[in-house]
Amino acid sequence: MLDLSRLNPPQRTAVTFEDGPSLVLAGAGSGKTRVIAHRIAWLVEQGVPPDSILAVTFTNKAAAEMRERVKALSGTAGKESVIATFHGFGLWFLRQEHEAAGLPRWFSICDAGDQVTIAKRCLADVSLDGRRLDVRRLISCMSEQKALGASGTGGARGLGASASVPPSVPDDDYLAVADALLPRYERALRAQRSVDFEDLIVRPVALLSADPSIRDRYRERFQHVLVDEFQDTNAVQLRLLELLCAPLTSASGGAGRARAGARKSTAKPAPVNASTIPPGVHPWAGRSLCAVGDDDQAIYGWRGADVRNILGFERYFPGAAVIRLEQNYRSTGRILECANGVISRSSTRRPKRLWTEAATGDPVRVVALPDEQEEARFVAGEVGRALNSGLRPAEIAVLYRLNAQSQAFEEAFREVGIPHTVKGGPAFFDRSEVRDILAWLKVCAFPQDDVSLVRAVNAPARGIGDVALERLGTWAAGRGEPVSAVLRSASAVPDIPRGAPERLEQLANTIERFRARFGPGRIAEPARMMFEELDFRAWLRRGVMSAEAGTRRAEAVDSVLRTLEWLERRHPASTLGSFLNRLALDSRDDEPEDVEGVALMTLHAAKGLEFPLVFLVGVEEDLLPVSGIQGEARDLEEERRLAYVGITRARQTLWITRATARTRRGRVEPRTPSRFLEDLPAGAHVRHDPESGSTPEATAARSSEVLRALRARLGGRN
Ligand code: ATP
Ligand code: MG
Repeated sequence: MLDLSRLNPPQRTAVTFEDGPSLVLAGAGSGKTRVIAHRIAWLVEQGVPPDSILAVTFTNKAAAEMRERVKALSGTAGKESVIATFHGFGLWFLRQEHEAAGLPRWFSICDAGDQVTIAKRCLADVSLDGRRLDVRRLISCMSEQKALGASGTGGARGLGASASVPPSVPDDDYLAVADALLPRYERALRAQRSVDFEDLIVRPVALLSADPSIRDRYRERFQHVLVDEFQDTNAVQLRLLELLCAPLTSASGGAGRARAGARKSTAKPAPVNASTIPPGVHPWAGRSLCAVGDDDQAIYGWRGADVRNILGFERYFPGAAVIRLEQNYRSTGRILECANGVISRSSTRRPKRLWTEAATGDPVRVVALPDEQEEARFVAGEVGRALNSGLRPAEIAVLYRLNAQSQAFEEAFREVGIPHTVKGGPAFFDRSEVRDILAWLKVCAFPQDDVSLVRAVNAPARGIGDVALERLGTWAAGRGEPVSAVLRSASAVPDIPRGAPERLEQLANTIERFRARFGPGRIAEPARMMFEELDFRAWLRRGVMSAEAGTRRAEAVDSVLRTLEWLERRHPASTLGSFLNRLALDSRDDEPEDVEGVALMTLHAAKGLEFPLVFLVGVEEDLLPVSGIQGEARDLEEERRLAYVGITRARQTLWITRATARTRRGRVEPRTPSRFLEDLPAGAHVRHDPESGSTPEATAARSSEVLRALRARLGGRN
């Protein structure tokens, strides 16, 4: 039996909320995610069939954790309910509805790299006065257009009312080119039976909007929908929720199935529509939507998330109950004071104040070091100390604003032998050699994936030139077929270079041989054989100047194979296709989890997580708040919220570090402390910096001694 006594009264209200929409709007560490897990378990205990529950979170890791928590609380529900990310849910939905969506059962997801390849290929015949265009920006314009289009199709209300136009309004030139490019790009996606990330939400929204029978089916299926981190939803995600969770009005047709079990609620046969709702019956009878979130942690504005979704929740879901949680169970008093200090200066929030019954704890320590290497060595020293005193590596995190900051920490940790894992690192899966490896795997999993085929053709080189590929591609396009389908017919292509047809036929045979070896639960071994037969490691070693770089590239094959083995162990019935699609969805989450190490990750990746010991590093102007990156204007409010997210990840101990100088493009530049440091309350933190009388050099010298001792103990390199 579920123990509700381990919840405080407002948490209990949220967990046992009966029918209709509810929003838990509460600060960090107040138990929002705990509410979601308990509510799923509670619903099941009330007799709700687990498979009628849908819970959506933001990362694969969070979804996996949620499944574990629910399983621990209520056994089967963790397995049978749909607990996924928004994109994961979209993928699941499109698999169910692939026919209605005009997709084959095994379509592939085109990742960010593939998108660039396709867009560039389509761009070859779209030009703008010979000017160079930023392809990624064009892709994001196209994504915005797709999102706008989808949300506007049918439904009670178009996108305009429920969503914002993303903050960076692209200039007219980009919009015009994106307009011209979009149909070609979509055609190219269709030709290779792919969908892109945007499609994973946009296409389900389009289907649900356009087809009432599908909409009814899913409304009937999912009687209870739960959403974590609601503050980071965007317009299309909100639309998806509106389509799935609407109450019974004349605009919607479906209704809840009778709820089995002991609940006293007004269960009734389904489907029902407005005209058949008996008088006095709650329009949400037997159905609910529970969203939890914190407007202070809205950190995805740059990706189109709209904090107004949470602030206007009651408007989108009329009659919604709003429940507030104010007790923080995560952090010590001083950590919380620092968090409150930083976030209370935010000008665009709903005021709230978190409190805790936990001990005041140690003050937050703010340390200045002379440069980024010393900063990393200092952190390594403190991490080592914590490990010696009994903390496990996985209980420690180093959080930074930009992926590029991880390198110095990786080096320092390696030097002293501290186990660590870089989450969401300078994307391993974006490295050129890793993309070559994945291209072969994709060719085996998705016969129509031409982007991968073209990449694999000459990796390693097999004497098939660009001219041959281009002519074959044009010929195939003319016949409306993917290149992969015509590899054996190349001799029919006019002007195809001599020798090419034979080589293409050989390639087709090779691919077929490889492909036949894969099957459910048979992934790692066929992949290993394939890369051996292709002599991939040797080829990767050859392509570079230094032996070290060559080794690093060759090791990528082993990394991928290890990931495949890990996957096979965890999901014995998994197929290569499902692995690749999961990887595309969120590659950073799919690193082997059995390596226990100190987590190095960005503030964005740390959302929702907690650690006893946290190092928030690089707290300087131009890093936190970051200066404009990738053409995005910086949003100071969002940067402040990121700092708040970072601080609130810590349970017992928080270090905040900064460097007084950093090397940028080969030049040493002085650095200014972050403005957010000024908002830390005086009694809650102590400073070790020039202003407090301790020089960064002296701090660094002390940390060198610690490191020397550590090296001896942990057995790192000298
Ligand atoms: P975030 O905003 O960072 O996502 P959250 O609001 O989702 O945080 P949780 O992660 O659910 O917070 O909870 C934070 C910590 O507090 C967890 O360790 C959780 O187990 C604990 N906790 C929450 N509520 C209670 C409670 N009533 N009693 C004891 N511990 C609790
Ligand atoms: Mg949470």
